[in-house]
Amino acid sequence: MKSLDEYRGIVSDKVLAEIYAKATKLNKKHIVNISSTYQGGGVAEILHNLVILMNDVGVNTGWRILPGTQGFFTTTKRMHNALQGEAIDPELIHKDYYLESNEKFSVFTHIHHDCVIIHDPQPLPLIKYCDKKQPWIWRCHIDFSNPNPTIWEYIKTFILRYDIVIVSDQQYKHKDLPVEQRIIMPSIDPLSTKNIDIDDSTINYYLDLYKIPVDKPIILQISRFDKWKDPEGVIQVFRSVKKDIDCRLILCGNAATDDPEGVEIYQSVVSNNQDLLDEGSLLLITAEDNLMVNALQRTAAVVVQKSTREGFGLTVTEALWKGRPVVASNIGGIPNQITNNRNGLLVDPHNFSECAEAIIRILRDEKFAEKIGTAARESVQERFLITRHLLDYLNLFLEIM
Ligand code: UDP
Repeated sequence: MKSLDEYRGIVSDKVLAEIYAKATKLNKKHIVNISSTYQGGGVAEILHNLVILMNDVGVNTGWRILPGTQGFFTTTKRMHNALQGEAIDPELIHKDYYLESNEKFSVFTHIHHDCVIIHDPQPLPLIKYCDKKQPWIWRCHIDFSNPNPTIWEYIKTFILRYDIVIVSDQQYKHKDLPVEQRIIMPSIDPLSTKNIDIDDSTINYYLDLYKIPVDKPIILQISRFDKWKDPEGVIQVFRSVKKDIDCRLILCGNAATDDPEGVEIYQSVVSNNQDLLDEGSLLLITAEDNLMVNALQRTAAVVVQKSTREGFGLTVTEALWKGRPVVASNIGGIPNQITNNRNGLLVDPHNFSECAEAIIRILRDEKFAEKIGTAARESVQERFLITRHLLDYLNLFLEIM
């Protein structure tokens, strides 16, 4: 199991000493995180790493999963879409499914902790069914700068019961919510299998294993098959880049158990782009393998994140940390990570030719690609690493417990 002292040399000793000092004051405090999946997506990625380090420094931190029926996950994905701004027929939101799964979970799961952290909208109503004796935090990871008003009003019913709301960016704070709202930015773990430095022979092993040819420059997007990640848009951009430069597009998207739309979107990508699949210029990968993701991110000539909504975008952080040139949408949490032309390129998510030109610029200009790649790695250091995230949480716990 990982321990904090392994981060010596990656972050400063000062940061590590500060974490140890603050954690001492929280020794044996008991915290529970509740989310709706162990696998797939940014929340699971963060918790897999953060929970281990919290325990390592002596804060007893658990992580539980809210199980749900198919109807529950269909409803919560619709709510997720509506909170990201999609117009939705409120009749399609089955509040009974939403509430039933939460109520049942409250019977199976007894909460005696010193603090409860609820992640995203799926377990949000749990607070209504528990005997609340401690601070409850709602940690929202999604882009809800412009939520559908009906669904926003509905979920506020539950948010009002919380002590603190944590969001990833200033624009997600809501003036009409009389609950304290704070910002904590997500992070990546430089020592996880997804991000740890790997040598060329390991990279080649994974490229061989997944039959990924390297005869052409690779354009890569790593993302769940989700409408907000705009896989069809990435392919349209790629079609236009390919007219100028011979290259290959890889879309790598695993399945998250709390996202029932993925299969449908994957299937429509396949049926709309059979020509590219047949000629081998588009590769779709659905395997779940962190070292493969690591190897792909290190091999790509350009990493793309063409989202139309993005709470933060860990895939961007991961690529920046690996010193790769990134072309990403100027949306949500991405501009917190990329300054245009310095450590990556920002593009209008709806302007396909701008995105294609940015990719071509990187593919054509090796020196520019190298320059932004170097700045990319530096931009993640300390700011978006797990140690800073851990410290943000410890500071919050010290205030509220
Ligand atoms: N991810 C992965 N394999 C995939 C697709 C995504 O491991 O095929 C990981 C990705 O590396 C990142 C996380 O899932 O760590 C996605 O987080 P992000 O914040 O980018 O988006 P979210 O899915 O939470 O909207």
